[in-house]
Amino acid sequence: MPASKTTNPPKTLESKLARIGLRSDMDLVLHLPMRYEDETRIVTIREACMRGGQTWQVEGVVVKNEISYKPRRQLLVTIQDDSGDLLLRFMNFYGSQTKQMAEGVRIRARGELKHGFFGAEMVHPTYKVVNEGAPLPSSLTPVYPAGEGLSQTILRKAIADAMKRIDWSDTVPPGIRKRLELIDFEPAVKLLHYPPADVDEYALSEKSHPAWERMKFDELLAQQLSLKRAQRARREKGAPHLRAVGALSEAFLAGLPFKLTGAQQRVVEEIRADLREGYPMQRLLQGDVGSGKTVVSALAAAQAIDSGYQAALMAPTEILAEQHFRKIAAWMEPLGVKVAWLTGSLKKKEKTASNEMIESGEAHLVIGTHALIQDTVQFAKLGLVIVDEQHRFGVGQRLTLRNKGSDGLVPHQLMMSATPIPRTLAMTYYADLEVSVIDELPPGRSPIVTRAIDQMRRDEVIERVYAAALEGRQVYWVCPLIEESEALQLQTATETYETLAESLPDLQVGLVHGRMKPAEKQEVMDAFIAGQVHVLVATTVIEVGVDVPNASLMVIEHAERFGLSQLHQLRGRVGRGTAASVCLLLYQSPLGQVAKQRLMTMRETTDGFEIARRDLEIRGPGEFLGARQSGQAMLRFADLETDQWLVDRARDVAQYLLDGETPERMAVVDAHLARWLGGREEFLKV
Ligand code: ADP
Ligand code: MG
Repeated sequence: MPASKTTNPPKTLESKLARIGLRSDMDLVLHLPMRYEDETRIVTIREACMRGGQTWQVEGVVVKNEISYKPRRQLLVTIQDDSGDLLLRFMNFYGSQTKQMAEGVRIRARGELKHGFFGAEMVHPTYKVVNEGAPLPSSLTPVYPAGEGLSQTILRKAIADAMKRIDWSDTVPPGIRKRLELIDFEPAVKLLHYPPADVDEYALSEKSHPAWERMKFDELLAQQLSLKRAQRARREKGAPHLRAVGALSEAFLAGLPFKLTGAQQRVVEEIRADLREGYPMQRLLQGDVGSGKTVVSALAAAQAIDSGYQAALMAPTEILAEQHFRKIAAWMEPLGVKVAWLTGSLKKKEKTASNEMIESGEAHLVIGTHALIQDTVQFAKLGLVIVDEQHRFGVGQRLTLRNKGSDGLVPHQLMMSATPIPRTLAMTYYADLEVSVIDELPPGRSPIVTRAIDQMRRDEVIERVYAAALEGRQVYWVCPLIEESEALQLQTATETYETLAESLPDLQVGLVHGRMKPAEKQEVMDAFIAGQVHVLVATTVIEVGVDVPNASLMVIEHAERFGLSQLHQLRGRVGRGTAASVCLLLYQSPLGQVAKQRLMTMRETTDGFEIARRDLEIRGPGEFLGARQSGQAMLRFADLETDQWLVDRARDVAQYLLDGETPERMAVVDAHLARWLGGREEFLKV
């Protein structure tokens, strides 16, 4: 199907349309109404007045037309039909309107009927001048999502014009349409723009009408086709064969103070198999907080190093990167592995030294923050990229690291996330993402008991903290999240720290927050890890990754301000040892509906997957996986939750079309992608 040419409407219109993403005729045609107005029926003025309270269309002749100045300038037009009179009131109007609605002119007006002080009236109705007996439209009038400077009239005309120019051929082959009971493209689109008066309006508004189903299917098919194509393109790229599970891997395993869980063993095998392949792995390692992802990623790194390649591990925050660095260095350096450390806060000299180690290949493993993706960082032989908490990075950042391979090879990529994404959702976003799940916690962990407590009972909570510390347990005290102001958040944290230090004079209270220098932060963290600090007051810098098994009580202040997955992440900092752990969610009443639901969920379950499922219910899928940057942005009509059945069908059809590689099927694929994605396919390639 040749892409239809855009004609040349005046420059301004074109640019206004472009601003809302409407560049081609097909874009316009696929710009579907968000709702409709029913102008297919006229009621008498008397009927409208009697039934009142909603939108009606009436028709009458102007019997009075005056500009009133009380209480302010306005145009008052009275129309009359056989049944009665109706006042039309316009607060803002042009001079031309006064003439347009001169006495004796016949008007069709549509608006909400109100009973005002002077009887029934319509304020700012839409109206048009008509001749007696002018036919009524036979279809509902579309109301489109509009943009600045784009009235419905302009959009309706632009879309109607575009519909005359496009090629209507159906891009889904007849056999598939028939099998899936999909209606044809042209009637579906036309129905959605101009639904007949007797259409099932409920099905239209719910997007469950067969015409909508056809649109959603087409949209999802385009998504699946382009994702699968990207996957194929990736497979064609070469990656280093990391064949060797050798001396380092074995020594590393043998030296661990624990045995891998069954789940860890399974995912290690999955990753090992991928790394041996000659095309780049793209695997997401999911595991609830505390499930032991770090050791799995270290094993992957060991395989790369055993095979003569470098590995890089990137974490979203300095604290987290540092934890990885310390832990992994402690495991691996005794085995002769050279680990380089690279973050933004390093002094210039240290940075240069790290860079040199990376470039010369002296460093086997590089751990750091986004500093790793700087242009100045050049790897000698990068074989594996590990990204922790991957959803915190943008697609572009991950891509940059992946592009740091050498000899034209693309390094393997292992992404890790403790934010569990329902599998189907993950597959929908990244058709080419493999997912490994650690669905088992290391043995000996005791469950975390969670309580929600009113802020009013803060004193009792402080006593509890004291009692816990006396038993030799350590405590996190998480300060409220203040999204609007980092300064205010810092102030609150400092105040909390001071009052706690004052109320607990026999205890050592420490404070960490995002504004501290890394070295200062580390000093406090070290003291906490060493057990010298009993209570650690923290802003959300401890959200991810921090691992202090002796900490078994967590207090979260203003828990109602945190999102569900954040709360889950935070809570995951306790329950890492064998002591029974407790998480106290302090809240400020009264609680809103959503906050109440969240706190209840936290009390009821510690299962990250269940929490993710409920989060999805409360919040919708948009925020998972940094999803907005990938698949979701493409989906205008389909909803990944409610339209899962269509997703499945679209995936099957995409597979079928791509598998054959016959010229016919390829033509179908090209035509369909051109229609639905235009030039936007590029951004899915990641
Ligand atoms: P996360 O998946 O949240 O990143 P970590 O990798 O930090 O979890 O692991 C949490 C803790 O569990 C660490 O102290 C780690 O050393 C320990 N751990 C990991 N695997 C096991 C295991 N199989 N047995 C016992 N402890 C383990
Ligand atoms: Mg971790």
